[in-house]
Amino acid sequence: MRVPLTIRDFLRRAVEVFPERVAVIDEPGVVGSLGTLTYREFDARVRGLASALAARGIGVGDRVGIVSPNAAKFLIAYWGVSGYGRVLVPINYRLSRDEVAYIVEHSGTSLLLVDPEFAETFAGVGGVETIVLDGVDDAALFAAAAADEPGPAWEPDEDATASINYTSGTTSRPKGVELTHRNCWVNATVFGWHLGVNDRDVLMHTLPMFHANGWGMPYAATGMGATHVVVRKIVGEEILQRVSEHGVTLACGAPAVWAAVLDAAAVRRDRGESVPGRDQVRIVVAGAPPPSRTVERVETELGWQFNQIYGLTETSPVLTVNRRPKEWDDLPMAEVAKRLAKAGTPAIGVELRTDADGEVLARSNVVFKGYWRQPEETAAALEGGWFHTGDGGVKAGGYLTIMDRKKDVIISGGENVSSIEVEDVLFQHPAVAEVAVIGVPDAKWGETVKALVVVKDGQTVSAEELREFCRERLAHYKCPTSVEFRSELPRTATGKLQKYKLRQPYWEGFERQVN
Ligand code: ATP
Repeated sequence: MRVPLTIRDFLRRAVEVFPERVAVIDEPGVVGSLGTLTYREFDARVRGLASALAARGIGVGDRVGIVSPNAAKFLIAYWGVSGYGRVLVPINYRLSRDEVAYIVEHSGTSLLLVDPEFAETFAGVGGVETIVLDGVDDAALFAAAAADEPGPAWEPDEDATASINYTSGTTSRPKGVELTHRNCWVNATVFGWHLGVNDRDVLMHTLPMFHANGWGMPYAATGMGATHVVVRKIVGEEILQRVSEHGVTLACGAPAVWAAVLDAAAVRRDRGESVPGRDQVRIVVAGAPPPSRTVERVETELGWQFNQIYGLTETSPVLTVNRRPKEWDDLPMAEVAKRLAKAGTPAIGVELRTDADGEVLARSNVVFKGYWRQPEETAAALEGGWFHTGDGGVKAGGYLTIMDRKKDVIISGGENVSSIEVEDVLFQHPAVAEVAVIGVPDAKWGETVKALVVVKDGQTVSAEELREFCRERLAHYKCPTSVEFRSELPRTATGKLQKYKLRQPYWEGFERQVN
């Protein structure tokens, strides 16, 4: 008998096996916070939400949006909406009202759940009914259901869409990525298996829950009966405090999150205070390539185990995993860091190859169903039966290295320059806090390499020194021909650099060639 795989499976197991275990510790002192819930209590709220939505006429396949920083209610919505055949549309709370209106209208969302902090900004956005998650407006939605109330009927279907996740738009207008129950199920089990998620884990949510459903980690951790610790806003020192307070063992996030934690840890050490979590915490990094220096510092200064995944919203997201194999046991830390900074090896069930142009292509059960209401874009992305990632990469010895997003590759005098490679070198300079490398128009070479640098507080460095630093470590054509200093760099909510924004002012009136 074939049993459909749905995200309900993860919560069903947790409630059956660990009903009295702490499921979630919500952010305290926040309006609408639910405090601490056991799996039994969590499940009662999930069923309560599902029934309340059905009672409001929201049927199977209807879209329910949520605009909120991380919260227990967000976790409840994963199951209370998607777990009963409705479709969750998680939306980035840092978007403007117009951007949210676009997503609400494009997805055909019929009800929007909004965090109190954003209630005014998004009230009635896109002409849709909004419910504020303040514990009053949403009281009927988040009430616990009675133990014998099963929630609305839904014939489980693994090909049904569980969520529509809008891409963050680092390269174009956001597209609605339809992830099915099978996509989410396979991603979560493979992710959990590769990262050794287990019932002793305490998962701290340092990754926005709206981003690719928390990369599937919430499903994986729940299936194992692990505890979720909600972190609403992601700040370095607060992360350290949560680690000691709750005995955190696991956390995911973009490289920028860990850079802030490293800074907070340095402040603690200067004050003679200890840094928690040594040999206890393992982190999973993705979203952008981590500089090898960050990898090394996480391992040595924090004593936290560094793991990496690579993927896209369209792949649920895990395509590759980089977790230190036993063969590296005797290697020096600097070499291990260099290897861990690569995207990694294909996860189980993922076929990866690069095409003649070096673009990474993937085939797997984690590859999405399509872009919501964009059949042409879907067909282009899945051309030839392979998903086209838009990333340039090299596969060698089983390991994938991401060279650059195709749109970020700098083509200078016919040579391809990986902006990631140049950034990694600049990051090794002790005065550099942040760096973005972009191509800017050049009369002779078509485009040329430019570095935009944020200098660490209290440090100084000149453009010429940084260029010289690169010349000692890189081929001449890869070295920045100019370096500009900035006080900050534009990033998405998940900490990704928005290079198109940086490029824009330089390219006005020019046509940029992309591979
Ligand atoms: P858009 O598709 O609109 O530009 P986005 O950048 O937010 O939005 P995501 O699906 O969130 O889209 O990001 C996927 C991209 O992030 C990948 O294509 C890749 O370029 C980059 N990325 C993710 N993980 C890694 C990693 N481990 N190493 C290098 N790059 C990574």
